[in-house]
Amino acid sequence: MSEKHAVECLRCGTFRTVERERTQGLDPGECAKCGYLGWALVADLSEPVRKNLRERPPELHFRRLRVV
Ligand SMILES: [Zn+2]
Repeated sequence: MSEKHAVECLRCGTFRTVERERTQGLDPGECAKCGYLGWALVADLSEPVRKNLRERPPELHFRRLRVV
C-alpha cells in the first residue's frame, strides 16, 4: 500500500504530491522550481504557520523539515 501526500515547498510555495510506501520516510527531494529541499505536509500547514516559517531563517526550515 502506498499513500499520497501533498507537500508544499517552504521557500516558493510550489505544491506537489509524493507517493510513498507506509514503511518509507517522506523524501520529496529538490523543488523543481527553486531547488529548495524544505517541504512541509500541506495538511500540517495553516496560514499562520506558513507565515511563521517564511519569517524564520532557512536553517530553521531545514531543521524542522528533517523531522517531517
Ligand atoms: Zn520551491
